[in-house]
Amino acid sequence: MDMGIRGRTALVCAASKGLGRGCAMALAAEGANVVITARGREALEATAAEIRKATGANVVAVAGDITTPEGRAAALAAAPQIDILVNNAGGPAPGDFRQWDRDTWIKALDANMLTPIELIKATVDGMIARRFGRIVNITSGAVKAPIDILGLSNGARSGLTGFVAGLSRKTVAHNVTINNLLPGPFETERLQATLGTWAKRDGITIEEAAARRRKENPAGRFGTAEEFGAACAFLCSVHAGYITGQNLLMDGGHYPGTF
Ligand code: NAD
Repeated sequence: MDMGIRGRTALVCAASKGLGRGCAMALAAEGANVVITARGREALEATAAEIRKATGANVVAVAGDITTPEGRAAALAAAPQIDILVNNAGGPAPGDFRQWDRDTWIKALDANMLTPIELIKATVDGMIARRFGRIVNITSGAVKAPIDILGLSNGARSGLTGFVAGLSRKTVAHNVTINNLLPGPFETERLQATLGTWAKRDGITIEEAAARRRKENPAGRFGTAEEFGAACAFLCSVHAGYITGQNLLMDGGHYPGTF
């Protein structure tokens, strides 16, 4: 299926690795021009080169911390207009809420709630004026089924989800949709870090922790960045204009509820 986004410009935040990279690759494969960001220039440039080689797309790499005003300004300045915005940033560290002070909370809110809202604010009116826009926020399965050690993530991402639920009903009449993609366990560096915390807590190896999580997942495996990117590309496609304000859980069926 042709996603109908050839020549559109996508800003994919935090995309040198993992799920952001998967989204950037899939959008580029559909012919979109892609701006990717990450803090580390070297890994980012390497990813940009890989995406160009694999897809032939125009890829601009902007190094910077997307959770800072400077990082966001640099990302937005890299393209004259943004038609597709994929919001992403590193997730907050796991831990016990008794150890988290106000600064820790503000950092998590900045990264996983306020940064996406700032970027939506900077781009959504242009999308509305041009009558096309697709915004996808990478959140977490923890929004639907909280994970005890990821309280900062549970809290900050739920705030973003509530905000998006309201705004997405205002923009859809202008062919601008806003949806959230909720990853369960995907094979990325972030997952390795989370498995490490579980392994330490339970006194087992990371391999054992990974095997347990695979086994308890109905799919019997972790997801891949390619699968995640493909879902993102569909939500950003011309075919998805009637889907807005949704929370698409991708977790191999791990969440047990009917809805
Ligand atoms: P990852 O660690 O594999 O990749 C994160 C990417 O974001 C890297 O390219 C990194 O350079 C970049 N990045 C991090 N902080 C940044 C910042 N402040 N500014 C710019 N770039 C930044 O992580 P991932 O697994 O791809 O996860 C992406 C998001 O999805 C995270 O918020 C994570 O918490 C969430 N998530 C992941 C999983 C999973 O299983 N992988 C599950 C639930 C939620």
